[in-house]
Amino acid sequence: MDFTLPPELDALRLKTRQFVQDHILPIEHDRSNWDAHDNIRLDVLETLRSKAKAAGLWAPQAPKEWGGMGLPMIGWASLYEEANASIFGPCVFNCAAPDDGNMNVLAKRGTEEQKKRWLTPIVEGKVRSAFVMTEPHPGGGSDPGMIQTRAEKTSTGWRIHGHKWFITGAEEASHFILMARTSDDPRKGLTAFLYHKDQPGWSIERRIDIMGPEEHGGHCEIRYDGLEVDDANILGEVGDGLKITQVRLGPARLTHCMRWLGLSKRCMEIAQDYANQRTGFGIRLADRESTRMKLGSLAMDIEIGRLLVMRAAWLLDQGDFARKAISMAKVHVADTLHKAADIGIQINGARGYSRDTVLEWIYRYARQARLVDGATEVHQMVLSDAYAREGNEFWKWGV
Ligand SMILES: Cc1cc2nc3c(=O)[nH]c(=O)nc-3n(C[C@H](O)[C@H](O)[C@H](O)COP(=O)(O)OP(=O)(O)OC[C@H]3O[C@@H](n4cnc5c(N)ncnc54)[C@H](O)[C@@H]3O)c2cc1C
Repeated sequence: MDFTLPPELDALRLKTRQFVQDHILPIEHDRSNWDAHDNIRLDVLETLRSKAKAAGLWAPQAPKEWGGMGLPMIGWASLYEEANASIFGPCVFNCAAPDDGNMNVLAKRGTEEQKKRWLTPIVEGKVRSAFVMTEPHPGGGSDPGMIQTRAEKTSTGWRIHGHKWFITGAEEASHFILMARTSDDPRKGLTAFLYHKDQPGWSIERRIDIMGPEEHGGHCEIRYDGLEVDDANILGEVGDGLKITQVRLGPARLTHCMRWLGLSKRCMEIAQDYANQRTGFGIRLADRESTRMKLGSLAMDIEIGRLLVMRAAWLLDQGDFARKAISMAKVHVADTLHKAADIGIQINGARGYSRDTVLEWIYRYARQARLVDGATEVHQMVLSDAYAREGNEFWKWGV
């Protein structure tokens, strides 16, 4: 077993780290560069994106022929983690959600024509995208089998009616991947449709007010009231919606974990820095056993997360679906992110509760990690079902 990162990937990892330090963190430290939703201002982002492109650090997850770096998934893991040493890093390198997952599924399942039209502009950073699946009660959330948004066949394509919510980025997105019901078949009832924001027949009802910082374009509630999509803009085949979702969400869950590990390490760094400087009752905070136990335990959880993520990434690189490995990583890293932000704030005292550091940003952001792309309980269900099915085979090594 070899845990060494190939030298070319390690070099890219270190280059990314340096870029974040030299170019992104100084921008992050100056609040005038932030927008009203605690994200980086779009004009500032554009300048940084040009620099990232020039440095050859652009869309690590997208295939080379479509304008990305074409890295294997273990490369994504090492690079994403460094990218999210700044809360703005993933946007700058064009590897933020939901664009990264959308690029990935379009690259894997799009036709050549679809890749030209829908994928290339996202990879180039000219447009943003959204993935539209979740519905309010009584529609589909954790259980996609409950999706109610319907596409009816017309002579040239499909007409769509329905209601969705929590669609990340919708207010800024141009390219949408929309999941709708085309039949009542439990396995083959959903279909993925591609549409452009300028098409009529849909509208944003509201940008939902949330507790955390927001991705560009927010999280929106959307109505479909006769959106027309032609046959050429079906992603995959009619009835392939569930498959498309799996292709998109497996890696997308893992890339969330990769980024969250970067944020967790950032929390640890801020905590360690303060503990090194701060004294009380005659000794440094960093020398207190209670501080060392907190940081030691957090370091261990982060490293467990990195191993789970890297193993899942490696399995995906071998062509495995890595369902169990991804579920384990998702549950563990979401918890680790909460722990990292909480310990970071605790060690920093009142300073941690202020907006003088990004700890409070990460703390508010972290809460979504146990919900998005499969709530914790759903992944635990996947794992217990797998164990019930596989017994001792659950623990096997290899692919
Ligand atoms: C910040 C944010 C961004 C999002 N972005 C997008 C997006 O871009 N596109 C999109 O389509 N969706 C998006 N979502 C929606 C997200 O994917 C859903 O919230 C998630 O799938 C859970 O669905 P739900 O909210 O309907 O929860 P429900 O299905 O109503 O479940 C509620 C709770 O019930 C529990 N539960 C559910 N199933 C089980 C089970 N089997 N066993 C035990 N307990 C269970 C869990 O605790 C769960 O949190 C986003 C959500 C958030 C918060």
